[in-house]
Amino acid sequence: MVGPQDVASLRRSADFVVVGAGVVGLACALELRRRHPHATVVVLDKERRLAAHASGRNSGVVHAGFYYARDSMKARLCRRGNLALHRFCEEHGVALERCGKLVVAQDEREHATLDDLLVRAAHNGVPLEKVGEDDVRRIEPRAKTVGWALYSPSTSVLDPLAVMTAMQQAALASGIDVMLATPWRGRDGSRVITSRGAVDAGFVINAAGLQALAIARAYGFGRDLQVLPFKGLYLLAGRTAPPLACHIYPVPEPDMPFLGVHLTVTPNGGSKIGPTALPAAWLESYAPFASLRGLSRFSARELVSSLGGNLRLLLRRPSLWRYAFREAAKMVPGRLVAAAAALAHGVRREDFRDWGRPGIRAQLLDLRAGDLVMDFRHEGDERSLHVLNAVSPAFTCVLPLAEWVVDVAEAR
Ligand SMILES: Cc1cc2nc3c(=O)[nH]c(=O)nc-3n(C[C@H](O)[C@H](O)[C@H](O)COP(=O)(O)OP(=O)(O)OC[C@H]3O[C@@H](n4cnc5c(N)ncnc54)[C@H](O)[C@@H]3O)c2cc1C
Repeated sequence: MVGPQDVASLRRSADFVVVGAGVVGLACALELRRRHPHATVVVLDKERRLAAHASGRNSGVVHAGFYYARDSMKARLCRRGNLALHRFCEEHGVALERCGKLVVAQDEREHATLDDLLVRAAHNGVPLEKVGEDDVRRIEPRAKTVGWALYSPSTSVLDPLAVMTAMQQAALASGIDVMLATPWRGRDGSRVITSRGAVDAGFVINAAGLQALAIARAYGFGRDLQVLPFKGLYLLAGRTAPPLACHIYPVPEPDMPFLGVHLTVTPNGGSKIGPTALPAAWLESYAPFASLRGLSRFSARELVSSLGGNLRLLLRRPSLWRYAFREAAKMVPGRLVAAAAALAHGVRREDFRDWGRPGIRAQLLDLRAGDLVMDFRHEGDERSLHVLNAVSPAFTCVLPLAEWVVDVAEAR
């Protein structure tokens, strides 16, 4: 979608410039407007279309908040974000399906991790129920579990594009300049250089997703970090697939930021399988290699960086080789369907023929620790703030996340 201000000219100066009109950038701009009604706020995005990256290419799951370690930002923001996003959808007429979610065990050894999740849920103030096999059958007769499972009543699903459109409209209605097709190209002191000229910025908020680290570096931040993009593929259920009442997730790997391939209810009454967590060759490598478009937005520098980063991670944590091979196998549709078939009855290859829009996570690697960054990060000074590692569940967390970003910006 091209916004009405796509053709407008860029201001020469602004109190706040937000780089990136993804969900984080738009939510930050709205929060700035709420607190500073008379300030000028400009949001820049390099793409001609809204939600071209993660904010338009995700599962649309409104997470409950029971996965995240007690003291993490993710834990602090997810429960609040879940409630706030439900309210936002109600106020803006965005459809949201309160479908709930089961986390099922594939063998008894996984019960220990389920117990840990119950403890995390209690710490994080998130409703989560331990349910026996009979209750699992009552909630979703197709779900398979060994012994017992967890049921999360406050997990929902929505269409992320509908949320993005509502946020863009709210931003435009409140006088925020949302400038699509206007990439940040560099900086010259406090001036932000774009494809349409320069804007003198009082304060810059960098919410550029996959590109946020590169921009942070231009301001002198993010030196000990590297972006390690992980691609999420989806297979969409056709009309012949049996219906699904709630999301069905596997037990997650405790020290990975990904939740494992799951079966997700979609807001239109369908379902999908995914997302995988495959190392992506470069930051915006969305198209399949088998097609000519496979090389679009190719960057040799990003390819070398991705290979180096993955190798560094695998050398530090050799146990991840098995994980990496398992994820790589899921590029084959039959293997991806087989992973989902372990979670539910009636998951058949012939019902899942079409690939959905893949998404790529802006996951960071901490170069000093040699390990994946598990929580949201920010770096900055009195002139700029950089929102880094805004990976899942940042969509769910986004409203309190924006309050936090603006609190930090104001404190500087
Ligand atoms: C496969 C997948 C599944 C996910 N599932 C869920 C889920 O179910 N629930 C959930 O809560 N979260 C989920 N997430 C996470 C969620 O989608 C992201 O955390 C969130 O969308 C991040 O938003 P963002 O605004 O930071 O990034 P983005 O949406 O990527 O936005 C960044 C924007 O910055 C722009 N930009 C980049 N460089 C420049 C530049 N130089 N100049 C101007 N603009 C620039 C880009 O064009 C882009 O529009 C998922 C993510 C993925 C990838």
